[in-house]
Amino acid sequence: MSGPQGSFVDLHTHTIFSDGLFTPEELIAEASRLGFTAVAVTDHDSVDGIERARAEGKRRGVEVVPGVEMSCNVNGTDVHILGYYLDYHREEVQDFFARVRQSRLERAERMVAKLSELGAPVSLARIKELAGAGAVGRPHIAQAMVEAGAVASISEAFERYIGYDGPAYFPKLRLTPPEVVNFIHKNGGLAVIAHPATYGNDDLLYLVIAAGVDGIEVWHPEHNERSVARYQEIAEKNRLLMTGGSDCHGGRKFGRIYLGDIRLPYKYLMALKQRVRVNP
Ligand code: AMP
Ligand code: ZN
Ligand code: FE
Ligand code: FE
Repeated sequence: MSGPQGSFVDLHTHTIFSDGLFTPEELIAEASRLGFTAVAVTDHDSVDGIERARAEGKRRGVEVVPGVEMSCNVNGTDVHILGYYLDYHREEVQDFFARVRQSRLERAERMVAKLSELGAPVSLARIKELAGAGAVGRPHIAQAMVEAGAVASISEAFERYIGYDGPAYFPKLRLTPPEVVNFIHKNGGLAVIAHPATYGNDDLLYLVIAAGVDGIEVWHPEHNERSVARYQEIAEKNRLLMTGGSDCHGGRKFGRIYLGDIRLPYKYLMALKQRVRVNP
């Protein structure tokens, strides 16, 4: 049952089924090249890339962990929750995410209208094209803005227009932490708070813990050593699982790939798997 000695995993990645640039096959090929034993595919509001990643994983000997990254709203802050091992084949799971993606599209329409008002017009058709079959997100809008010449870079798009404090920012569907956590649990999965250091406030972390999450993402490229120590301690005190991942977007985020930045020892994935079994 134990993974190979010294083997490492990445439990947070994106593909073209949300705002990543890698196809599921490319992601797994790259992970294999870097020597990963296992990779979790955690697209925003989509489980559509998992099956393809699994097939590629079988070919290359990389274990693929089914996952998803959901969002909830805590006092106005967008908090991300990773769901691992949820039963992604269920029709109600797929239908639910299809509805969330539809609301993302409506939000993108609102953002496009606002951007046009602000003198930075961008084409909705192009945004849809960039998103393809995946969940439309702000990174697609940012890329379309760069292409249209409205901004010079993706970072500038976020800084000037579509970041959380930007004039063209619109929030997503407002799910609550219990709604997201219960959805994951109801479908057999484990819920893990993603990149807690990025919310700028740990009070909301306790609200999310109170909603019944199973774990905390301790290792993430945006966590410094102090954050890692802090979230490790919070996880231990609250008997929560610890996870980590690169949040790889295949180069769409700041032009960096990220895969390979976090090499989480296999034992943390083992702990996750053991918890799934005892807590079906
Ligand atoms: P959304 O879910 O549509 O609100 O988009 C959130 C996604 O935007 C995150 O998961 C990141 O991939 C990306 N993102 C957020 N802030 C930035 C930033 N400052 N620069 C580049 N990408 C960002
Ligand atoms: Zn993303
Ligand atoms: Fe996230
Ligand atoms: Fe992510």
